[in-house]
Amino acid sequence: MKNLWNDSDAEACGEDLLALRVYSSRLIGQAPGLVLHGGGNTSVKASYTDLFSDRHEVLYVKGSGWDLETIEAEGFSPVRLDVLCRLARLPSLTDSDMVRAQRGALLNPSAPNPSVEAILHAIIPYRFVDHSHADAVVTLTNTAQGEERIRSLYGNRVLIVPYVMPGFDLAKKVAEMTLETDWAELEGMVLMNHGLFTFSDDAKSSYDAMIQLVSEAQLEIGPRTTPAVVSTDLCALDLARLRSAVSHSAGFPMLARINQSDASQDFAARLNVADIATRGPLTPDHVIRTKRLPLIVEGDFTESLVRYTQDYEDYFVRHSSDHHTRLDSAPRWAVWPGQGTVAFGRSLKDLYVVGDIVEHTCSAIADGEHLGGWRALPAEDIFAVEYWELEQAKLKKSGTSLPFQGKIAMVTGAASGIGRACVESLAEGGAMVAALDIDTDVADMFSGTNILGLRCDVTDGLAIKNAIDTTVRQFGGLDIVVSNAGIFTAGATIDNLDDADWDRSLEVNLTAAMRVLRASVDYLKYGIDAAVVIVGSKNVPAPGPGAAAYSAAKAGLTQLARVAALELAPHGIRVNTVHPNAVFDTAIWTEEVLAGRAAHYGLTVGEYKTSNLLAQEVRSKDVAAMVCAMAGPDFSRTTGAQVPVDGGTERIV
Ligand code: ZN
Repeated sequence: MKNLWNDSDAEACGEDLLALRVYSSRLIGQAPGLVLHGGGNTSVKASYTDLFSDRHEVLYVKGSGWDLETIEAEGFSPVRLDVLCRLARLPSLTDSDMVRAQRGALLNPSAPNPSVEAILHAIIPYRFVDHSHADAVVTLTNTAQGEERIRSLYGNRVLIVPYVMPGFDLAKKVAEMTLETDWAELEGMVLMNHGLFTFSDDAKSSYDAMIQLVSEAQLEIGPRTTPAVVSTDLCALDLARLRSAVSHSAGFPMLARINQSDASQDFAARLNVADIATRGPLTPDHVIRTKRLPLIVEGDFTESLVRYTQDYEDYFVRHSSDHHTRLDSAPRWAVWPGQGTVAFGRSLKDLYVVGDIVEHTCSAIADGEHLGGWRALPAEDIFAVEYWELEQAKLKKSGTSLPFQGKIAMVTGAASGIGRACVESLAEGGAMVAALDIDTDVADMFSGTNILGLRCDVTDGLAIKNAIDTTVRQFGGLDIVVSNAGIFTAGATIDNLDDADWDRSLEVNLTAAMRVLRASVDYLKYGIDAAVVIVGSKNVPAPGPGAAAYSAAKAGLTQLARVAALELAPHGIRVNTVHPNAVFDTAIWTEEVLAGRAAHYGLTVGEYKTSNLLAQEVRSKDVAAMVCAMAGPDFSRTTGAQVPVDGGTERIV
């Protein structure tokens, strides 16, 4: 394990202990082998001067919600040290009371909640305390004869603490174990099945000890065997089916992402994977993100999931008491023999965090097996963390989620006008959106990480197929298709119609939409409350002269949508059409077209823009709002509908 300490960076912190604490905490946070996503915590004991110039001895300890990799000074909560030390002497304390007492002892009331390991940090008689969940150390403890391994590796240089639930009980245990301890003889403290503490009055020595002890554990484990390269073609449809089954089991839509790295595939291909992957997580705190066990995909997804759900319910019944609120029984990751591992989550961040934890877990299990047998904590200890009173309290506070949270949408013609507005509105609503456009800039056009810009010519069947495949690989499936790509061919009366213009209009406005729909249907069948929204045109119910090529194509498109509504209803897929009119912030309304149409009706451009019953200009975002409504729950009982968004048109009303 590389020591990242840099003297000049550390010296730049000067005498500021908190700045130094931030610096070395980030070094720990940068090493994924030490901590992952909010795991681990650090502290420094220093003085705090209040408004009256009174000085208080405080423990600046990592606040909850902060990640060591990116922590700032305000991520450390100043808690009165004397209060923490007194708390450690109480005979018992519930974790909720501990959190309350710690908040009460904050010298800055707007600081985040101090870590639940604050009391433990407080009783360690050194200025700097570092705590990681180092993979290598935890892996050694998670094996048969784990404690002996640690003892023979470190001798008396570390205190070995048997597994105790983090929080007050752990602090109490350490306090009892160290009554007679000469701390000066210790380089660190190994918490079985949990992690490692190092400490010193000097930031560098504490960090150095962390790196040193973890490096020794890595050496003990030995080099990783290079996984055999297994190359398997993923069937994107199978991934969508798996994601659908997991979402239904959860009761809400989830995203899914497969990891097909060599290591992942190698792990999933192990003959005993169903056994070794279901012994328990790497460290108990992972259970909040990953659940205790992964789904093992065998044969039919549904059967595997039914078994998983039943097992989860049994686990809950076995360990719960009355006051527990049962969590959903869906898995957060899966081992898919022959494919790799899959992460599930409600947001991209969840996918990323779960994916990382899974990668570390799989290699730790592989190492543990290599060392004679991976062993995880018993289910009751994992349950205690999963259903910890502090985690249960969070459930009551969690607010409502966005309407499209966990859903996956695809929009064609996404680079401008109505398409772009649809992409933005769906993304604001929480959806992951694949934004397809022929414009080569589409890949860089959107800043949000939940929008995937894909260059795609919708008249090219193969390009559509590839775009859908990429979308499914990226997010796990497809729930919403907004068929919007279109062109307005030059206006011409029928006697002057150009064959090429006619063909082109039908190709883009009609045939391409059919191809997009055709390629999407198989995926939408596994979508969650799947919906197709077709962007038609006012020209369908109220055609104008001189636009035969456009109107005929859009009329064909509307008929396609009606047939699709009939065909897809048995699969629960809704197909509705929006007929916008006079939306002038779109690509087809060039200045020239606008002036031409205005002149055609004998109006100024201004009059033409608001020439509807409500005398209101219709904007792309107004159409997008209707598209979102049609794609969302408000239209859950509506299919085959055509709704105008045109400010009201006399000829249609
Ligand atoms: Zn910990």
